[in-house]
Amino acid sequence: MDNLLLLGDEAIAQGGIDAGMSGIYAYPGTPSTEITEYVQNSHEAIQKGIHSSWSANEKTAYEAALGMSYAGKRSMVCMKHVGLNVAADAFMNSAITGVHGGMVVVVADDPGMHSSQNEQDSRFYARFAYIPALEPANQQEAYNAVHYAFDLSEQTGLPVMIRLTTRISHSRSGVIRTQNRNQNTLSPFNQSKRFILLPANARRQYNSLLEKQPGLEEISNHSSLNYLVEGDNLKMGIVAFGIAFNYVMEIRVRHQLQYPVMKIGQYPLPRTMLTKFFEKHESIMIVEEGYPVYEELLRGYFNNEKNILGRLDGTLPRTGELNPDYLAKALKIDLPPALPPSEILQPRPPMLCQGCSHRDVYEALNEAIRNDERHVFSDIGCYTLGALQPFESISTCVDMGASVTMAKGAADAGLRPAVAVIGDSTFTHSGMTGLLDAVNDQSPITVIISDNSTTGMTGGQHSSGEGKYIAICKALGVEENHIRVMNPLKVHYAENVKIFQEEFAYEGVSVIIAQRECIQTLAKKKKKAK
Ligand code: SF4
Repeated sequence: MDNLLLLGDEAIAQGGIDAGMSGIYAYPGTPSTEITEYVQNSHEAIQKGIHSSWSANEKTAYEAALGMSYAGKRSMVCMKHVGLNVAADAFMNSAITGVHGGMVVVVADDPGMHSSQNEQDSRFYARFAYIPALEPANQQEAYNAVHYAFDLSEQTGLPVMIRLTTRISHSRSGVIRTQNRNQNTLSPFNQSKRFILLPANARRQYNSLLEKQPGLEEISNHSSLNYLVEGDNLKMGIVAFGIAFNYVMEIRVRHQLQYPVMKIGQYPLPRTMLTKFFEKHESIMIVEEGYPVYEELLRGYFNNEKNILGRLDGTLPRTGELNPDYLAKALKIDLPPALPPSEILQPRPPMLCQGCSHRDVYEALNEAIRNDERHVFSDIGCYTLGALQPFESISTCVDMGASVTMAKGAADAGLRPAVAVIGDSTFTHSGMTGLLDAVNDQSPITVIISDNSTTGMTGGQHSSGEGKYIAICKALGVEENHIRVMNPLKVHYAENVKIFQEEFAYEGVSVIIAQRECIQTLAKKKKKAK
């Protein structure tokens, strides 16, 4: 079998290709994007006819994967942690319906918020939905976990979550391929009414989900992702989850510590294993990446006489990513002072690329709107950098699609002008429905769709509304003469300022589509064409 050098994301993708996956659905989001990109660029995936496409948002992606599972095939859906909020309705209900063909939900969390609005922990969602979750500690485990997750999903009839974090997703390591399984044959699920969540069925299904829980815990007690690393020093035992296991082992090996380590990579928790482990030690340190999800739970299980250390008592930092240095400090190991950063390193504050169309949008917008009136509601994309100097054009960035609906709320309150800036991809992700609300209420807002023909922030994925924005806005009820198109280039500056001013003065819903391709994707296209 091949030995490949893969990112954690790529190991997941290759795992899917080798495990008989028939389709993968996703909306791009760092740090999960490379999973789908890998499948899209894989000749093997293309030869095997594996469906791979970018969906309009995480919810539509989730539902498509669920439909494929309903048809008996193995499907995967991928997203970043905040994307799971968007897919949450389908996600929670899919735990009640269950699945037919194996369905794997890959969620990449971003502790430390390298490129996200928050650092929420997707393991909470898995517990919330009562479904199994796997948390691989390295790339090989990530690859193996996909095979295991598909089997587990078909064995239990439930979707199975694989939780990654940024360090696993974006670091590279050798991976040995172990299988090449055929895809399932088409076999739609048609025996009972379990995919119809009318109350009578839903109640029955929910009970069946609860009845599965002891079995899921028992599977965890025997999972190869959960195991003990023996040690002689029983004063303290360390419970390490997912990638945190690597940090623990690095310090343990480097400083020749003898604390036993219980490694956890599958949930629900293997309670029998943990009970035995807890009984053997005077104190326990809980090391998990993200929220203290299981520290809270374990304090509840075992807090009668145990000294439990972790993120909740300040032994480890409460927020952000962990690393071996934090572990050393928690274990009271003196480390030599860190070397200062090299003087040749130049700070590189985030900024829009030189020549980016969003720059010209903001320059004209700033001219068209007076400083004391500049309460511009923004969305999530490269253009969010319009919050920084030299533009300082925007005042908000909350979640996908929020620009339009927040502008609407502010307009309803009397704010003028109420302006939303949203990218083309974000508009089709979750801006369209907000625009419909504004049209229905005739809220006086101006929506600027900064259309650069791609999903720029995540590296240039296909944008699902390409070429359809005027038609979409018309169909949503925006008056044709208040759908304006501009070319955001310096040469059109005065004309663009005028368009902004005219539409800001209009007491109704207007849309301005600023169209110019992202220079990065344009450069890539030109390079490819040569
Ligand atoms: S990647 Fe494209 S959209 Fe993003 S800042 Fe650069 S030019 Fe602008």
